[in-house]
Formats: sequence, C-alpha cells, structure tokens
Amino acid sequence: MEKNIALIKGDGIGPEIVTAAVRVLEKVAEKYGHTFHFTDYLLGGAAIDATGVPFPKETEEGCLASDSVLLGAVGGPKWDSQPPENRPEKGLLKIRKAMGLYTNLRPARLYPALKDECPLRADICARGFDLMMVRELTGGIYFGDHVRETAEGGVTDPATKAWDVEVYSVMEIERIARAAFEAARKRRKHVTSIDKSNVLATSRLWRETVHRVGAEYPDVTLDDMLVDNAAMQLVRDPAHFDVVLTSNMFGDILSDEASQISGSIGLLPSASLGDTKCGLYEPIHGSAPDIAGQNKADPLATILSAAMMLRYAFDMTEEADAIETAVDRCLNEGCRTADIARGADTKILTCSEMADEVIARL
Ligand code: NAD
Repeated sequence: MEKNIALIKGDGIGPEIVTAAVRVLEKVAEKYGHTFHFTDYLLGGAAIDATGVPFPKETEEGCLASDSVLLGAVGGPKWDSQPPENRPEKGLLKIRKAMGLYTNLRPARLYPALKDECPLRADICARGFDLMMVRELTGGIYFGDHVRETAEGGVTDPATKAWDVEVYSVMEIERIARAAFEAARKRRKHVTSIDKSNVLATSRLWRETVHRVGAEYPDVTLDDMLVDNAAMQLVRDPAHFDVVLTSNMFGDILSDEASQISGSIGLLPSASLGDTKCGLYEPIHGSAPDIAGQNKADPLATILSAAMMLRYAFDMTEEADAIETAVDRCLNEGCRTADIARGADTKILTCSEMADEVIARL
C-alpha cells in the first residue's frame, strides 16, 4: 500500500520522538512492501515562530489532504507569554476541530516487565490489564453553556451562582458508540458503557442510544456501569475492562486514572478519530521541555501511536501487531529509557537507541 502521512513534530521532545517513530515506520514499510510518503507540517510553538500563528493554513490543508497525521507534542515555556488565542495548545484544539475528530482512543495496559511501576496491589498487577478508553471528544458539558450569575441576576462578578449545561444529541452518542463497538471488534469484543443514568437525563439518553447501536453488534458484549462504580473498578479490577465507552467529562477523568495505573507516561499512545479514516495519532504526554534536545525521551508512546495509525487508519493489523510485539519484547528484554529505568546497574538507552532496539526486533 502507498500512504501519505503528515508529520507534526511540534516542540520540545517532539522532533526526537517523531523521528524515532518514522524510522520504525520505514522499517515496517520495507518489511511489508508498503510506501509511506512523509511530509512535515508546523503546529504549536514551532508554527508561531515561523508564521506567527499556532495552526497555519498550510498545515490545515496538508493534514486534511493526507491519509493520516502523526504528532509529537506542542507547547513549552517559550510561548507562555502568548495571548490565550495564540498559544501552542490552541493549535491542537484547532486541528482536532478542523479534522472533525470526535473520538479519542486511549489504550492503557500493564506491561508485565514494568509491573513495579504500577501503583496497584501486587495481586491486581499480577492479573494484568489491557483496556481501551473510547472518549467522546467534542460534546457534553465542556461544550454546553457555562454561566456565572450574581445575586441580582447579572453577569458581573462576584457571582453567587454558576451552572454548566450538558447536552448530547442522539447523533453524537450514536457515532461515538459505533466507534466503541468497532474498536471492540478489533479487541476482545466487550464494551462497558459508562454513565450516571440514575441521576442525569443525558445519561439516560446515552444508555438507551448505546443499547440501540449495540443491537447492530451482536458479536460484542455490552454492559453498563455507573461512573462512580467505574472509578472504583478501575483500581479494584482493571482486568474486567476491554473497551470503556464514555462521555467527554467522564472520559477525561477516567482516562487519566487509567493512564496512571499503567506506569509511565512515556508509554501511552492515543488516537483521535472522526468520520474518515484520516485521524490524528499522538502520545498522551506533552513536549517535556525539561529533557528536550538531549536524546533522553522515551519514544515508545509515539512508536505505539504509529502502530495505532497502522491499525485504525490503514487496516494494517499485522504490521501494527508487529510493532506492539517488538515493543513488548524490548521491555521484556530489559531495554529502558531513563523514565522507566530502575536500579543503579540498569543500562539507560537514549531515545534513538530505543528506536534501534524496536527496529532490531521487527
Ligand atoms: P509533559 O508530559 O510534557 O511532562 C511531564 C513530565 O513527564 C516531565 O518530567 C517530562 O520530562 C516527563 N515526560 C513526558 N514525556 C516523556 C517521555 N516521552 N519520555 C520521558 N519523560 C517524559 O507535561 P508538562 O511538563 O505539564 O507540559 C510541558 C508542555 O507540554 C506544556 O507546554 C504543555 O502545555 C504541553 N502539553 C502538550 C500536550 C500535547 O501536545 N498533546 C499534552 C500535554 C502537555
């Protein structure tokens, strides 16, 4: 297959980790007979420096015309004094909106080799876990009205009352539910839908709609869980979960909880998807300005994001499995960047050396 991949290296460690992931993708292309064409685009701080804005038109057009986008990370102290509308992170929000990305996929798993990094009890770690959060990204309470009101009913502070409105349409719930069921079909075929239907009207609509969509996927098991119980079960029995389907706010909270129980932030990939196969794939961590330019960053989250791109954007299941297996083997065989190294005698690999190790195992 031939694919055009837009690369957004971004700021801080972004260029180092994206370069590492590109080398892995080039190895996959060589091994499986594909051709990947890579084109660099600017976003965030690098874009502000070059063009004055965090999301230049050329980036928008180039990304929309590509088959998929691989992103490092944006932001850093250099741009902290930018006005709110021109901050690097605005570039991120704008590209998600321009690409119509409403599904956020965040896998979280425990690598047996890294179980000492997991904050959970040893017997829970021993069972392991491998789950996928599927979070709705562009609706719900974050996008409803946010109102502060004074005692006289005005809007000038100090407010005595405030409210935020959660709105979900059937269309928004249906499309995120479909994304969850499709993801489940590529995994262990089990969706747990999270809501607060004992209290919230939006949650009752969520539950009804998810079940209606679920009827189209008889091969996938669906169960419901109230969000407060889900927060407990994630630390009590994370192995219970396969695909976790959530609204925007519940997913924001639960996906951070899920990422923490996995160990290191340097290992966790993500995908943001819309109606087309062209998604945005990026590690969940930021630009790590404290270690930027030192070839110290852990590239595995970005390499695993590239694997998600192969799986979800290009249907290259075998190739994605090959990257994930190579990463597993690296960790099992003791390859460690500084963020996951323990003990004085552990050999610490650089970012590019870790990529070499993954490539060697491909
Ligand atoms: P961060 O994730 O960049 O760093 C937090 C800590 O984790 C740091 O100590 C860092 O060195 C370490 N770390 C992160 N990724 C690592 C990796 N791959 N390997 C080894 N260590 C790693 O979070 P922060 O410091 O709060 O934010 C720094 C900048 O990144 C800010 O400007 C923030 O706005 C931005 N940010 C961007 C994104 C994104 O682009 N999606 C996400 C979060 C934060």
